Amino acid sequence: MNDSGIVIIGGGPVGLVAAMYLAPRFGSVTVLEKRPDPRSRLGAVGRSITVMLSTRGWRALAEVGLEGPVRSICVPIHGRCAHLTDGSSHVTPYSRDRRPIWSVERARLHRLLLDAAEATPGVRLCFDQQVREVDLDEPAVVVDGPAGRQTLTCRLVLGCDGAHSTARAALVARGAREEVRTLEMAYQEIDVPGGWLDPFTMHYWPTGDGFFGAFPLPSGHFAGSLFLRLDGPPPSYAAGGGDLFGMFTTHFPEPAAAIGDLAGQLATKSVSTITIASCDRWVWQDKLALLGDACHAMAPFMGHGMNCGFEDVRTLAECLDGTDDTESALAVYEKSRVEEAKAISALSQQHYHTMSTPPQDKAAALAKEALRERLFELFPDRFVPLYEQCAFTEESYATLLNNDLVLESLVEELLGIHGPELVSAPASTLRACVPGAADSITKES
Ligand SMILES: Cc1cc2nc3c(=O)[nH]c(=O)nc-3n(C[C@H](O)[C@H](O)[C@H](O)COP(=O)(O)OP(=O)(O)OC[C@H]3O[C@@H](n4cnc5c(N)ncnc54)[C@H](O)[C@@H]3O)c2cc1C
Repeated sequence: MNDSGIVIIGGGPVGLVAAMYLAPRFGSVTVLEKRPDPRSRLGAVGRSITVMLSTRGWRALAEVGLEGPVRSICVPIHGRCAHLTDGSSHVTPYSRDRRPIWSVERARLHRLLLDAAEATPGVRLCFDQQVREVDLDEPAVVVDGPAGRQTLTCRLVLGCDGAHSTARAALVARGAREEVRTLEMAYQEIDVPGGWLDPFTMHYWPTGDGFFGAFPLPSGHFAGSLFLRLDGPPPSYAAGGGDLFGMFTTHFPEPAAAIGDLAGQLATKSVSTITIASCDRWVWQDKLALLGDACHAMAPFMGHGMNCGFEDVRTLAECLDGTDDTESALAVYEKSRVEEAKAISALSQQHYHTMSTPPQDKAAALAKEALRERLFELFPDRFVPLYEQCAFTEESYATLLNNDLVLESLVEELLGIHGPELVSAPASTLRACVPGAADSITKES
């Protein structure tokens, strides 16, 4: 079959947002999705993770006219609360001025995006269509559907087909290098009743090597996720074996007491593994581009995989706008995104330690954390918490990662020279120790 339009492989969040961006600009867009329509009884999923939307994600949603509808199904979350084994808790606001990030059930967001994409002139959604192969020369896709096997030629293929991407495989066959691996960490989704936790905060119980997280839902209940190692000593899925319930109650007594049907949920809910994937090439001539998890499936701990995928879409649309030279536009897109994806993937992996390690675990880490806090307070424009910048700005992830490394060295250097007493030193002493402080705006205290 011939089609002069764009073919998108994958009707996940990134593929659907890409369809809504591109159809109004470039005409016909066909989305090929291997699964049944999740809005139908057959395709409905019985469980759903929640995903966090930050500024980058909102920008893309706003540009396709969906900011209001999506906001109406979200819950604002102001920070995360670590619940420690000694019964104390420790709240970290997501931003210093209490701006929230927004949590949404992934399945609900997906249904909303499907409705919106379907209503976009020029977009055609085709379900039960599994792409088996991408021919980069035509370009064309070989797809298996209810009517059998077909080859669909088109103008441009966009691979939005997730971590196990068939589109990426076509690039790898032409020499691109990919890295795909399964994290040692897996998760199980557990329904958590409301009424005992602040409903506008993400709650977590770190064990040092895993955690249980509870994410607010619009109903006031929480979507729980039990993140544990697959193997190794307790707490891990392997060590829990037949007695996951016993292990859960030992390591997470507080949520264990609140979740009524915990044993049943642990016994019946599936344990999902997490695949991370990256690729050094994202485009092929003027024929193919990868977006979203197809080129950067990352650890979920920063909550940026989808946000970053939406940013890919916006960047691609900007590169393609106003030029007939698709090959150059795709090259610019690749160049501007590969390092960004590497940086946020590294940050996501790093953030696992924040989520799994109790905040007051080690004296040295505590001193570093406390000194950072003082620097954020004293030099509000020069030093901004990394999580806050990732969530509330569109600053390059690579720049943010680099800035954070610089801050980490400064903190280590200051503690090395002045010792941990610096953490509680008067503001004037601290100001005098920080290089370049005279040129910075500081907050009087
Ligand atoms: C536990 C967890 C928590 C997360 N939390 C967050 C968060 O808070 N914030 C955030 O931004 N991100 C989060 N993420 C990441 C986010 O879910 C992903 O980044 C996002 O779903 C990627 O979207 P995508 O459309 O690129 O890929 P996918 O969602 O994987 O969609 C790909 C689609 O392609 C289809 N497909 C695959 N192969 C083919 C084929 N050969 N032919 C046709 N169709 C095909 C699939 O069926 C699927 O529908 C989280 C992930 C996990 C696991």
